[in-house]
Amino acid sequence: MIELSKRIKRLPPYLFAELENTINSLKARGVDLISFGVGDPDLPPPRAYLEKLSEEAANPKNHNYSFSRGEEDFRIAVSEWYKFRFGVDLDPENEVVALIGSKEGLANIARAFIDDGDRVLVPDPAYPVYRNGATLLSDGQPVDIPLLKEMGFKPDLNAMSGKKAKMLYLNYPNNPTGAVTDLEFLKELIERAKEENIIVCYDNAYSEIAFDGYTAPSIMQVDEAKEVAVEFHSCSKTLSVTGDRIGFAVGNKQLIKGLVEVKSQIDSGPPVYLQKAAAWALRNYSSQEILGQLKKNVLEYQRRRDRLAEGLAKMGLKCFKPKATFYLWVECGGSSMEYAARLLEAGVVATPGVGFGKHGEGYLRFALTIPLNRIEEALSRVQEAIHQ
Ligand SMILES: *Cc1c(COP(=O)(O)O)cnc(C)c1O
Repeated sequence: MIELSKRIKRLPPYLFAELENTINSLKARGVDLISFGVGDPDLPPPRAYLEKLSEEAANPKNHNYSFSRGEEDFRIAVSEWYKFRFGVDLDPENEVVALIGSKEGLANIARAFIDDGDRVLVPDPAYPVYRNGATLLSDGQPVDIPLLKEMGFKPDLNAMSGKKAKMLYLNYPNNPTGAVTDLEFLKELIERAKEENIIVCYDNAYSEIAFDGYTAPSIMQVDEAKEVAVEFHSCSKTLSVTGDRIGFAVGNKQLIKGLVEVKSQIDSGPPVYLQKAAAWALRNYSSQEILGQLKKNVLEYQRRRDRLAEGLAKMGLKCFKPKATFYLWVECGGSSMEYAARLLEAGVVATPGVGFGKHGEGYLRFALTIPLNRIEEALSRVQEAIHQ
């Protein structure tokens, strides 16, 4: 008899099993589905990055082990990008670590600081890694902090006090709600975290997917952030390269050191050729070759956002029009699972909000990773599903 560990058994049941079965059987029958389900960009990475990557991958020297903290040159490029993009100074030696995608880092940092039963504040709704991969797989105790519409999907900092938590995860621009934040809020957050001695893990994966002139801040722009915080970043969404597995974390030295300690027992750093290509893209970030393509992508997400939001609103489905990220968080009311099942019957896949936490109930998440002509088609299908 093979037993799973208690740790694995504590993970919540997979809510979407039934929905996924239906999706798979529809696909197998050749039904044409329009999927807004997965947050994986369909828009291309900058051509120049791909060329650089091929060149680096063709060099045999770039196929040896990297270090768990990453190549020095990559860490320097990250610190240069932080200076350029956020005006933040980082020590590439002690305040930067390369990640095999930010998901790994978000999960692994908990292993370095969370003991059995330690409390971890986790937003609800949220990217599931904070609760599951990070907290539960480190034997920690997740404590939900609701993100409510009335509060602009930001946590109530007063309600966070006195929770005796060791760590906090937070993510803006936010997946799944599309909410954004400002430096004022982050300042207050850092102040509270310092008072209560809470480690802040700030996930900034969507900082570069921003609309309407909004510019996402870095938590490292707060003067005292380095005392308690780390920020996680990724090339996944910025460069449209989710499969390339290259990200980074920056911030407090001890936190970075703890993360590196865990990683050095588990992995060996991202492939050298990836680090070299990503370092090149970060150094040439403001060039036409990189930023030109990124801006084109962002404008396309913005057009899709506008069209989908407008179309859904006409059918009475209210949504929070995001200033950043490529998600629409749509109020469907009632059971999001049932609503998603109804849309699926009409050939449209959206993610039930309850999958991101109980406060996600009553919402659906639409990823804007579908071209405009398919969005038009999806809108008429939704219309049909609603009026049946
Ligand atoms: C996509 C995403 C990431 C990035 O994951 P990678 O492992 O870097 O690909 C991180 N946080 C959130 C909230 C995301 O949606």
